[in-house]
Parts: sequence; C-alpha cells; structure tokens
Amino acid sequence: MTTPRLVMDLGRIGAAYRAMRAAMPDVAVHYAMKCNPHPRVVGHLAGLGCGFEIASAAELEQLLGIGVPADEILYSNPVKPEAHIEKAHAAGVLRYAFDSADELAKLERAAPGASVYVRLAVPDLHSEVPSEGKFGVDLGTAAQLLLAARDRGLDPHGVTFHVGSQMLHPRAWAQPLDMVGELMDKLAAEDVRLSLVDLGGGFPVRYCTDPPPLEEYAAVINAGLAALRHPVHAVVEPGRALVAEAGTLVSTVIGVADRMGKRWVHLDVGAFNGFMESLETGNQLRFPVGDEHGGAPRRRMQLTGPTCDSQDTILFDAELSRDLATGDRVHFGSAGAYTTVYASSFNGFEPPIVDIQEDGEQQ
Ligand SMILES: *Cc1c(COP(=O)(O)O)cnc(C)c1O
Repeated sequence: MTTPRLVMDLGRIGAAYRAMRAAMPDVAVHYAMKCNPHPRVVGHLAGLGCGFEIASAAELEQLLGIGVPADEILYSNPVKPEAHIEKAHAAGVLRYAFDSADELAKLERAAPGASVYVRLAVPDLHSEVPSEGKFGVDLGTAAQLLLAARDRGLDPHGVTFHVGSQMLHPRAWAQPLDMVGELMDKLAAEDVRLSLVDLGGGFPVRYCTDPPPLEEYAAVINAGLAALRHPVHAVVEPGRALVAEAGTLVSTVIGVADRMGKRWVHLDVGAFNGFMESLETGNQLRFPVGDEHGGAPRRRMQLTGPTCDSQDTILFDAELSRDLATGDRVHFGSAGAYTTVYASSFNGFEPPIVDIQEDGEQQ
C-alpha cells in the first residue's frame, strides 16, 4: 500500500452530520468546506442535505458543479476579491459576510441588493487552534455597519461570529449570543430586524482526549437563541466536527535515529505534507497515534516528517511500540480535517493520497 494515505470513512461523516442535526434541530448546518473539500466528501454531505460555507470563487464553482443550489451557500469570508463576489452574485448566492465599510462598497458594486451579515469580534476563550483576532468588529461598529449597508441598498440581514477552532468550552457561545441579542435590540430601534444568526464553526473532535459532549454546546446555543427578541434563522458552519474523526492517516517509518537520548522516528508524512496543524499549534494538537506492534512494550519518541526542515515534527513524546522500525506503519486518527488541504510537496514529498471508503468497508 502506498503511503502516506488518508482514508476517509463516509459513514462517519454522515453520523457526525446527523448528530449535529439531532443536537440542534432548529439550526441549519453549512459545512465549512475548506477543511476537507474532497469531491466525495463534499458530494456525500450535499446528498445528506447539508448546506455549505465558502471563502472563494473556486469553492463556489466546485459546489455549483455538483448541483448545490446557490441559495444554500453562505459566503462567510469577510474580505473577498471583488471578482469573486461578482461570480457569486451572478450564480445566485444571496448571503455575504463582511466587517468593514470597504467590503460594503465592493458588495454594493458587485452584488447590488445582496443580504449581508456582519462579523462580530468575540472574546478569546482559548480555542485549541486560535484565530488571532483577525476578523470581527465590536457591537457599536457592527450596528453602524449594518445601517451603512441599508443606506447602500443592501439588506442588513444578520450577524455572525466564530469562537475559534476546536473550542473545548461550550460556554464560548454564551457571551457572543448575548452580544447578538444586544445588537438586535439596538437595530430594532432603527427599524432594522435581523433574521440570520450564524454561529460559526469551532465544534471540537476527539484528539487524545474526549471533548465535552455536543449536547452541552447545543444547550448553550439553544438557550442563547431562545433568549433573542424574536425567532431567527440560525445556522452553524462546522468544518472539523463533520470530517476530522472520519479520517485516518496511514504513514510509513522511513528511518529511526537516536539523538542525544531521544528517539526520532522519521515518517513519510510531516507538518508540510499533511500535519500543518502540528506546526500551527506548536505541536499541542495531539493526534491519536498507533502502530502495528500494538501491545508491545512502549517508549516515548519524536514523530517527525521526511523533509530536511526541522519544523516538520508532528508529535514530541508520542508513545509507540519500543521496537518500531523502518518500514513499519504508523497511523493517526482524527486526521480528516485541515490535513491534505494544507499539504504541499515541499522538498519533493507529496501530500497523502486520499482513499474514500463507504461505511463499514475494510482498509
Ligand atoms: C474555518 C471556518 C469555519 C469552520 O471552522 P471549524 O473550526 O473547522 O469548525 C467556520 N466558519 C468560518 C467563517 C471559518 O472561517
């Protein structure tokens, strides 16, 4: 078997989608396709009736190509190239995020009359993969921007926020939803009635420890929505939560070296051709890892990549079989999100092949 190889189980994606629908029956699900845009993954979710969240014209074209209706697509990237807005508008995409007057000017030109939703900045509660405060504005600015949208002939449609990826605190949605309530009250005084509340992504998956159950997130969100002054169309934009656990990345040991008391295991996959999130999180995202020797005596080792770059290590102090040797397989769980799509062929080491399996198939 050629490695590195990402094996995706469509059955688990379906199960994750149904679990989210069941936990929040009144909330529409729009998959943030950036985290794994493989055609079979996207097609499977489309077939289940899932909506989508996009950031670019290329993502849009992929969806249109498989017949996803344009009005089930949210364009949530707050800053878009104007040519991409034009394409989306021509295709019939109705809803666009923004967080600046500059973006409103582009939307007015390229998507006249569009429905727009403002991105709120929310308190940083330390998600595992933080977003560095890149997007979002405060409440007062959000209100002003929505009024400015109305003045430009756009529909001041709603509000969105994103708590940060792999958010392990269910209460992270509570304060943003209070802010949404305040924003709705402020705008009601100006005769603007917001109808869309987009709760973003950030729902966690299991890496080496179990996250809080989805029901705890749903309880906070359902309560927050119920406290708003009038019912809204609520959506979530999960990426990781729908696809990560469905993916297993299979790699091969290409060499083992003992250096200054540490064992280094070099794999055919590293940060640059699959595990960029190891680099992004300072190796704090602990992928569950296993090998063929199973129960053998264990020892700690550094799992690193195949390139000459010292930054491509996946895990420090991972516990694997003591006798792990060149040619053995090492597999990583929860590898279905933000892996292949971030991968480059730096130093000549190719990204993983993707192997799609229906529910229950054996590798
Ligand atoms: C990346 C992103 C998401 C998905 O985030 P996950 O943490 O993978 O759930 C959702 N919404 C927006 C706007 C994003 O940028």
